[in-house]
Amino acid sequence: MKQYDVVIVGGGIHGAGVLQAAAAAGHSALLIERVGLASGTSSRSSKLIHGGLRYLESGQFALVRESLRERAIHLRIAADLVELKPFFIPVYQDTRRRPWQLKVGLWMYALLGGFDASTRFGAVPRHEWSTLDGLDTQGLDAVIRYHDAQTDDAMLTRAVVQSALSLGAELAMPASFSAATLTDDGVRLSYVSGAQAIECIARVLVNAAGPWAPQVAGKVRPPIAIPDVDLVQGTHIVLPFAVTAGIYYVESPTDGRAVFVMPWHGAALIGTTETPYHGAPDQVHPLPEEEEYLLAVARHYFPAFRHLTREHIIQRFAGLRVLPAASQGAFDRSRETIFSTDREPKPRVLGIYGGKLTGWRAAAAHVLQRISASLPALQPRAATDQLILRRPA
Ligand SMILES: Cc1cc2nc3c(=O)[nH]c(=O)nc-3n(C[C@H](O)[C@H](O)[C@H](O)COP(=O)(O)OP(=O)(O)OC[C@H]3O[C@@H](n4cnc5c(N)ncnc54)[C@H](O)[C@@H]3O)c2cc1C
Repeated sequence: MKQYDVVIVGGGIHGAGVLQAAAAAGHSALLIERVGLASGTSSRSSKLIHGGLRYLESGQFALVRESLRERAIHLRIAADLVELKPFFIPVYQDTRRRPWQLKVGLWMYALLGGFDASTRFGAVPRHEWSTLDGLDTQGLDAVIRYHDAQTDDAMLTRAVVQSALSLGAELAMPASFSAATLTDDGVRLSYVSGAQAIECIARVLVNAAGPWAPQVAGKVRPPIAIPDVDLVQGTHIVLPFAVTAGIYYVESPTDGRAVFVMPWHGAALIGTTETPYHGAPDQVHPLPEEEEYLLAVARHYFPAFRHLTREHIIQRFAGLRVLPAASQGAFDRSRETIFSTDREPKPRVLGIYGGKLTGWRAAAAHVLQRISASLPALQPRAATDQLILRRPA
């Protein structure tokens, strides 16, 4: 039976990151993915590598600081895959946040980002408004410009796995984790690949199954604690309208929530929604009312979108956020990653719940540190903030 230091379930960005971090630290590591790399949430995000400007309002400063640091690292190690883009916040007479409030927020954002060149912001001069993809200028008071980054989430995930494989890590795909039994010093686990049931041994099992993480944790015997989480659906639509100047960060005319209108393969990607979800993660799909909500945003800000209806949508997708269970609305809940272990100080199972695409590398580093007491001390092969990520073929 094969033995690994770390076996990871789930080939989304978190599983990819832990695979790379484990291999870079010199460990033997296997990633088990059921469908395909980034087939879950990691291909259905808003595709932003960002600090999360709006998290300043809910006081999540540590998260914003870490995310801005990760953004800077991405721009250095993944220049092929992550691009700094202008973001525009239009402020109309009836917009909730006034220009001065935005400028205070952006000043804090720049402070947390270390005031480097990418944190510069300011107002777009009125004579340049005509370059903003036909943005409605009726009642427009100001347009604030700052910068954040955009990526292709699925491609980034594949690039991280490729990096891990080049360091000697292994991938089983398609392969479905089926069960694990805790032993004194690790885990004995099984997965199904094709018609074959395969067993192996791991010092640590990392559960990076995203919205499926509670199901995966439920297959561990004896049972382990599972954090109390909710699933919240987020839908995006793609409309046949070229947005080229940058990314628009607007308030929904329906409820004031922040929505992005982004360039995406020559069209416009619009998202997202926050709809509580109680079904099986495999069944998630965009709802008609979510599509109408996003169309209303597009029509409100861009007169050229006004004739567009649901029939014009060229692509639609929904993903599931994993958020700490709470009675408050999803928008205001913490976006911090929850790390849950079966025991301390020598965990045999570590689960990753929630988190951000942007924070995958920091999350993976944290996982390696949390499980280090369960792993042999080895000579590292590389540091993940130095490994260049290349666009996969
Ligand atoms: C609508 C939306 C927008 C977002 N936008 C952003 C954004 O712009 N920027 C940002 O930083 N973050 C964003 N996020 C957050 C980010 O997308 C997620 O935190 C991240 O993609 C989660 O990745 P993951 O690896 O944890 O899970 P997933 O990507 O869901 O991966 C889990 C994997 O586990 C596999 N799996 C499940 N069960 C098994 C099994 N039994 N055996 C083997 N494999 C299994 C699945 O097939 C899947 O591939 C967004 C999230 C949502 C929902």
